[in-house]
Amino acid sequence: MIEKIVEEMKDEMVKTMVEMIPIKAISPELGGTGEKERADYLERVLKDIGFDELKRLDTKDKYGYVRPNIIAKIKGKEGKKTLWLAVHIDTVPEGDISLWKTDPFKPVVEGDKIYGRGTADDGQAVISSIYALKALKKSGIIPKNNIGLMLLADEEVGSKYGMHYVLDNYNFGENDEFIVPDAGNSKGDAIEIAEKGLLWVCIKVIGKQGHGSRPDLSLNANRIGMKLALSIDERLHYKFSAINNIFVPPYSTFEPTKREANVQNINTIPGTDFFCFDCRILPNYKVEDVLNEIKDEAEHYKKKFNVEVELKVVQKSEPAPQTDPNSEVVVKLKKAIKELRGFEPSLIGIGGGTVAAPLRRRGYNAAVWYTIDNVEHSPNEYCKISNMIGDAKVFAKVISEY
Ligand SMILES: [Zn+2]
Repeated sequence: MIEKIVEEMKDEMVKTMVEMIPIKAISPELGGTGEKERADYLERVLKDIGFDELKRLDTKDKYGYVRPNIIAKIKGKEGKKTLWLAVHIDTVPEGDISLWKTDPFKPVVEGDKIYGRGTADDGQAVISSIYALKALKKSGIIPKNNIGLMLLADEEVGSKYGMHYVLDNYNFGENDEFIVPDAGNSKGDAIEIAEKGLLWVCIKVIGKQGHGSRPDLSLNANRIGMKLALSIDERLHYKFSAINNIFVPPYSTFEPTKREANVQNINTIPGTDFFCFDCRILPNYKVEDVLNEIKDEAEHYKKKFNVEVELKVVQKSEPAPQTDPNSEVVVKLKKAIKELRGFEPSLIGIGGGTVAAPLRRRGYNAAVWYTIDNVEHSPNEYCKISNMIGDAKVFAKVISEY
């Protein structure tokens, strides 16, 4: 049984994780130097496995750092399509170091947990995917279709040099399918097959600053800004009110979030007001249409209150089409989870965003799943060894039957 082969590699998997975590893989945008060294290390691990195809798709970023991607493939009997496991090897920085109980880059194994930055996101998936493919090789099973592994750079800051680069520079088969282990819950009972669209927009209202006692001589941007924020809030909720029960939560969300501080003292009427919205939009709608509603409301306020209103779009991505619930990848993944864990996972949509979105936009089926406690990007991030092994068993089962 292929699960038994995975179980027997437990110590090796822990060792690879412990060796990988000290090799930092942080994007230059977040203060690092990229993922090259970590990719070199993992490439050596992959070389021992014996793939039919093993190659690098490296590129250079605007700072001159090498941004590596590794593609590994095992050929199937018929090989008409490929099931890919797509994981990312970059991590975010440690954050506030005083909140860590251990050195984030010196992994500590304690009982069932391995502590360290990137052990969960996405280290656990990196290790369980690599060893699922290794188990397949060891088992001697040759599946009907090809099995691929992608170790990707740059996920944490938008995947320009990772998934997007690979999509532009590698020839995937038109029926290829993908598992993206990069979002999940601690039970592993939900497979994500859809993501909402995303819009981050900031709005600056410019009035006229003045003395607290002379509103007659000033134009209070604070009051107009508050009204505008509430108007936008109401308008978006009213206009884009569809319900889609696959999503958690099942509606589009429009949240006023960041507000910038204005004047320091109570007796000054603020001349500017600055606030932002985080919008997560169901695939029923176009992100552009949401943005147009916001623009329209801003125009209305300009005229009504004689203020300037400036809009800045910080992030914008259209929702990707939903992955077919009856696609082979989803059906086989569901079946493997049911057989190994004894429950039927539900199919859900989330607020975004993983590399499944660009894949779905290109028409590919992508299922997002792994078993993870909610520790990504937190201090004292850890991965449970039992989850790492358990997920590797699920992946091994899926790929051996694909
Ligand atoms: Zn991640």
